[in-house]
Amino acid sequence: CGIVGYIGYRDAYPIIIEGLKRLEYRGYDSAGVALYDGNDLKVTKTKGKVADLVDKCEREISTSGNVGIGHTRWATHGVPNDVNSHPHVSNSGDLVIIHNGIIENYDALKQELISRGYTFKSDTDTEVLINLIEDVKKQENVKLGKAVQIALNQVIGAYAIAVFDKNKPEEIVVARLGSPLTIGIGENEDEFFIASDASPFIEYTKNAVYLEDEEMAIVRFHKGIKVRKIKDDSMVDTYVQKLQI
Ligand code: GLU
Repeated sequence: CGIVGYIGYRDAYPIIIEGLKRLEYRGYDSAGVALYDGNDLKVTKTKGKVADLVDKCEREISTSGNVGIGHTRWATHGVPNDVNSHPHVSNSGDLVIIHNGIIENYDALKQELISRGYTFKSDTDTEVLINLIEDVKKQENVKLGKAVQIALNQVIGAYAIAVFDKNKPEEIVVARLGSPLTIGIGENEDEFFIASDASPFIEYTKNAVYLEDEEMAIVRFHKGIKVRKIKDDSMVDTYVQKLQI
């Protein structure tokens, strides 16, 4: 239900945790975070509050990394428990996703993936989407952004998503249909913030791009943002808003 992401030169963990707390008003039943620390992708998630997530992360000492995504879940598919919490990781262990919304045709997509050898740990629609993205990426031999785009064109539903590949941690791919998503742009494009609304990054930057429905963006450390239409792949001019708060 709440999405926060960070890519840049600071520690991602405190920004993500504080951001998730600011999004608590949206309501949720579980929380989780995925961090890439230069070697490993570490995913920590739990049923309960953001405070429970903090306890778990600090117990497991999984708080380092300059790239990460965090989520507060409001369960729609699968009961609220640790396994169904986001982030979800693909079968290869490379791709990780957070998702708000519902993939309505997840069951048909899941059966198709199972017939191709994919396995699932959770009961969520979201874990289907990340494995669909992985399958497209392998089958079509395309980059992550393209794989996300092709996969989303097979999906019926609503979403705000953030995805990254631990083998390419300088880039986060985001997309939106029916659920809000905004990108904060740091000075010199040396850091980017992703969130359901601007509250998680307001003290770091006043420059934000609000994605419209049916748009996706590739957010690249030091390189900037490219926004495209999910359906027809046309480029969208990025309109950077100055936040007033
Ligand atoms: N449909 C997803 C799930 O049940 C995402 C729910 C949400 O928006 O938090 O896990």
